[in-house]
Amino acid sequence: MTNKFCVANWKMNFNGHQGQEFVSQLNSKDLNKGQSQIILCPSFTSLFSIVDASKTSSIAVGAQNIHFEDSGAYTGEISANMLNETGVEYVILGHSERRHVFGEEDDQIHAKMVQSIKNGLTPILCIGEKLSERESRDTNQVLRTQLEAGLANVSGEYMLAYEPVWAIGTGKSATSEMVAETHASIRNILADLNVSDTVSLLYGGSVSPQNASELAAVKNVDGFLIGGASLDVEKFYKIYLDL
Ligand code: PEP
Repeated sequence: MTNKFCVANWKMNFNGHQGQEFVSQLNSKDLNKGQSQIILCPSFTSLFSIVDASKTSSIAVGAQNIHFEDSGAYTGEISANMLNETGVEYVILGHSERRHVFGEEDDQIHAKMVQSIKNGLTPILCIGEKLSERESRDTNQVLRTQLEAGLANVSGEYMLAYEPVWAIGTGKSATSEMVAETHASIRNILADLNVSDTVSLLYGGSVSPQNASELAAVKNVDGFLIGGASLDVEKFYKIYLDL
């Protein structure tokens, strides 16, 4: 089984029909050629149809969020039980847009980690520093805080995605040197937290067909979380092949 992952975060793009069209185009390509597990993360309303469209292929499906309670008066939210009904296997947690646009805090993200694992979903926990934090040399401390909070007393299967906030959707990826240095620091933090070095650590932030092969060659990069380029099947497939 691979520990490399090529994850598409479609964000609030593609309705069910458009997502199904993407899956059918992706399925027409050779998906045995790459070395990573493809995971598509559509919007909530497309989950059933994308799981259905992917079920005869090696493509897996994830959600983009979850609520941390089992049920209750949480208008507009989606529970683990509802996600399980769709057949998804993964869920993105703590994405920078959830943290910085919707104000999610570390304790909520931690509760979502616990809730996901308890319900058999594999979380993809996103961590990353803002530009001001990198410039003030606080990157390692920010990542340590996010990891300590997100992973506190968490056991079970999960993966991590390092996504510098300033690189997301900007077209300005971190350099391979930055990714190498930061992923090594993250591995050190994880060792301090007694987290197994087999936990997959993805990079995300303006990954494109132009930079994928260079970033994929960086030590400690176990895959990509891809936003913009995951909306174009040719770009996404090229990145998958480069991993
Ligand atoms: C993301 O949304 O997680 C992301 C990395 O986006 P982009 O690839 O567009 O930077």
